[in-house]
Amino acid sequence: MFGLRDISIKNKLVLMQVLTCIIVLGLCFAAFVITDINGYKERKVNSTVSIANVISSNSVSAIQFLDNNAAYEILRKVESDVVSATILDSKGKVFASYTRKGHSPIKFQPTYEDHYQFTDDFLYVYKDIVDSKEALGRVCLKVELSELKAIKAQKFQIATIILLIGVGLAFLIGLLNQRYISRPLLSLVKVIRQIREEQNYRTHVPVNGNDEISALSAEFNNLMDEVVRSHQKKDEFIGVASHELKTPLTSVKLYLECLARMDHEQQAKSFVLKANEGVNKLHLLILDLLDVSKLQSGQLQLNLKELTIENLVQTCVENTQMNNSGHKIMLNCGTSNTIVLADEDRLEQVINNLLANAIKYSPNEKEIYISTQQIESGIKISIQDFGIGVAKAEHSKIFERFYRATGGNSVISGFGLGLYICSQIIKRHEGIIGVNSEPGKGSTFYFELPVVNQSKKRPVQKKSRSRHLN
Ligand code: ADP
Repeated sequence: MFGLRDISIKNKLVLMQVLTCIIVLGLCFAAFVITDINGYKERKVNSTVSIANVISSNSVSAIQFLDNNAAYEILRKVESDVVSATILDSKGKVFASYTRKGHSPIKFQPTYEDHYQFTDDFLYVYKDIVDSKEALGRVCLKVELSELKAIKAQKFQIATIILLIGVGLAFLIGLLNQRYISRPLLSLVKVIRQIREEQNYRTHVPVNGNDEISALSAEFNNLMDEVVRSHQKKDEFIGVASHELKTPLTSVKLYLECLARMDHEQQAKSFVLKANEGVNKLHLLILDLLDVSKLQSGQLQLNLKELTIENLVQTCVENTQMNNSGHKIMLNCGTSNTIVLADEDRLEQVINNLLANAIKYSPNEKEIYISTQQIESGIKISIQDFGIGVAKAEHSKIFERFYRATGGNSVISGFGLGLYICSQIIKRHEGIIGVNSEPGKGSTFYFELPVVNQSKKRPVQKKSRSRHLN
């Protein structure tokens, strides 16, 4: 349902201002009108009672001498807003009555408790005619209240005009107010969104003035400083921890490799191999953590040189195939002798990582395709598998640090760092990396690199080395 929460603060402010104005003006005007109308009624009752008093004293002798004509003459001379006047005798019968043209006579019997009575259009005033404490009859006057109606209509008009002016002013003040409240809030939101999107936590929001929004902005800046500090601490920790882990692990790995080469009973040998496998995984993880640490601190240096990409791809395929006999990697080079300016180790790391992922995330499908293709902006390398795939909503997220896709890979171990490192390496080579994938159908990860001018092409010596340890 559409509620107050769905309305922007700007509109809430204007609405509140307008409502307050309507309520205050309404109450003031009601008090003013009620007092004014009551005053008018009181004055009207008093003046009519005075008329009734005069008629009452003047008509005593007319009643005593049963002179209806004299009584009629008295009634005829009363003021013009008395539209009907009646004298009743002591038995309540009409003794004399006068009604102005176009008006109806008093039809009902007066109540003896009240001396006056208001209806919508008329005021009725009653006065006993008394002589020496003897009640001779009663004067009844009917007074037209058209003046009251006019007063009411006029007040209503004034109220409407004042209310419209008030609401208009309140609306303008509300709009001016939002300059100081909702506009700074919106600019705060804009900066926060920008910080989140660019992940640049060093950006500060401007703090202008000394009000609550300034306090909020200042606190937000403090919070961001904390975020930056904790990021630094975490990166420092990753750097230190991975350095500390790497040294002893390297020596354990060396010893295990020596042990594996020595003659042992079959079972002992298999234990040593398994231990070696675990250590290798740990080693890779530490290398990844070190890379992340370097990337975060801007210390990842690229050793750029011209190399033939097809050769590098071939090397990676051979190495990965050698260590993963369960999958068949098929290379389709649509290009030849393409020279790129790149850091060979880092590019090899990217291709190996994408191949390793293709194998890891397609446990039930055995075929992996890798291809090179010439494109307008350079060369495109694609690695296709037919495994679990990734949902479209997660395509960009999987290149973030520590992000692992949610569907289907809970049983496949990983740390969510490989693609982040790949994307950063490719970015530093001025290339782009991406994925086309559908859950259950497989994925094609690709990256594109600019190529060195074709005339400069020269083959690079094929080299066999891999960052993946086995
Ligand atoms: P890791 O594999 O260690 O979790 P990566 O950064 O290499 O980390 O990959 C991030 C996530 O991307 C993985 O957790 C996985 O969900 C998804 N992913 C990567 N490669 C593939 C692939 N070939 N098929 C399906 N999902 C993949």
